[in-house]
Amino acid sequence: MNRFFTTEILQNGTARISGEDVKHIAKVLRLKPGDSVEICDARGRECEAKIISIVSDFVMLKTGEWTESKSEPRHKITLFQCVPKAGKLEIIIQKCVELGIMRIVPVLSARCLPVSKSDFDRRLARYQRVSLEAAKQSKRGIIPQIKPLQRIDELDLGGFDTLLMAYEGETERTLKQAIGGCDIGGRIALIIGPEGGFDPKEVAGLQELGAIAVSLGPRILRTETAGMAMLAQVMYEVE
Ligand code: SAH
Repeated sequence: MNRFFTTEILQNGTARISGEDVKHIAKVLRLKPGDSVEICDARGRECEAKIISIVSDFVMLKTGEWTESKSEPRHKITLFQCVPKAGKLEIIIQKCVELGIMRIVPVLSARCLPVSKSDFDRRLARYQRVSLEAAKQSKRGIIPQIKPLQRIDELDLGGFDTLLMAYEGETERTLKQAIGGCDIGGRIALIIGPEGGFDPKEVAGLQELGAIAVSLGPRILRTETAGMAMLAQVMYEVE
């Protein structure tokens, strides 16, 4: 069944879909009143809904029984991703959304290619769109948020149960040792460096804030591979 996100959940057992999805429903899928779709409120709830009417800019629906989305992980994982070269962040967003990330915070660190916050934040709408498309495709119950750019020395790392920093210079502790067989809590942060790696001062600063440096193994992964590999391994361990 076709699935749509909408936040327009109305009172009397109805909901509305507006925006670009309307054209898709009417012109591409050629759905008609009486046909059913699945809708998701982007807050982790979903239901089957029947189309009541389609007018030019919205679709009215009668909602069925709401249930918790079965695809949302119990663990809420945030990725702090140092900004990679152009074009790579889209791939990171798409793959991490498929793998169950809750939120992605782009980070500016010393060895990133320089980018101004205002230039970067102009791309946010596009990044959020990538997240939305990936969330639809992978049947997520939420649309993971892509946050504005933050500097590495200004990160807000409060509110996490476990902070895991993938550090290429870590030779002792593996990710497996850090998370294997113990309860690491439900709110987890993953921190990934840029193509040029972390500056040791940044590593020390993050450790002071409680981040645990871990190795992802003996091979050096590209920055765009590291986050998804780490996320998949953490999901495997905790879910
Ligand atoms: N230029 C660096 C590598 C950077 S890799 C060097 O040659 O050493 C980009 C980022 O991916 C790293 O900062 C780290 O966060 C992560 N990463 C890649 N491979 C890793 C590994 N084997 N262990 C831990 N982190 C890794």
